[in-house]
Amino acid sequence: MQREVPETIYYECAECDDETLHEVLRGRMGKASLECTIKCTECGKVSATTIPLPKIIKMQVVISDGPISERTVTELEEDDVIAVEDEFFLEDGRRLRVCSIELPGDKRVKKAKANKVKMLWCQQFDNLTIKVTINNDRVSYSRRIPALPDDEFVIGNRLELDDMDCFIHAIKTRTKLVQHGSAEARDVVRIYGKYGEKSYPVLDFEDDVEDF
Ligand SMILES: [Zn+2]
Repeated sequence: MQREVPETIYYECAECDDETLHEVLRGRMGKASLECTIKCTECGKVSATTIPLPKIIKMQVVISDGPISERTVTELEEDDVIAVEDEFFLEDGRRLRVCSIELPGDKRVKKAKANKVKMLWCQQFDNLTIKVTINNDRVSYSRRIPALPDDEFVIGNRLELDDMDCFIHAIKTRTKLVQHGSAEARDVVRIYGKYGEKSYPVLDFEDDVEDF
């Protein structure tokens, strides 16, 4: 893990007699410490100091993808706090989401400090499949669409599917039913839409508009 000198850190300021935000003016990363010159953002006191860094630990990771699971290792700082549903990247670029945190003794928790964790159970979280229910009078259709975690679905917007379109009127997320605004794909359980005929590319009518 390549560690970069942070732009700011919290540090005990002798002048303020408090832990305050400091700007790092100059810094050099050592193996286990940061040698730096810092400036308190409260009182402006500048000090040169050496700050011990949290140790980097190797974290055991299980990635399960349907019936297949794979074991790998990632690096974390020992005092990183990990929680279920956190997302992180492996060095090979894959995005994972934490499904379960295992402590020694087969104990499962929702949140833990990295150095307490035995194993992280994760799911690959790059290409999601979102379920869509489309309603057309008394008939409803089920479809699935691909999405990336950051994709945003907006109530009222047209959603293009292979064989039909729909207008999003509700989105069930893991915590609520969204009927106004939007939701990110990472949170979506199901999208509800009203049937719409397939749309075709709309021509640019801008020239006509100018005539009015
Ligand atoms: Zn200060």
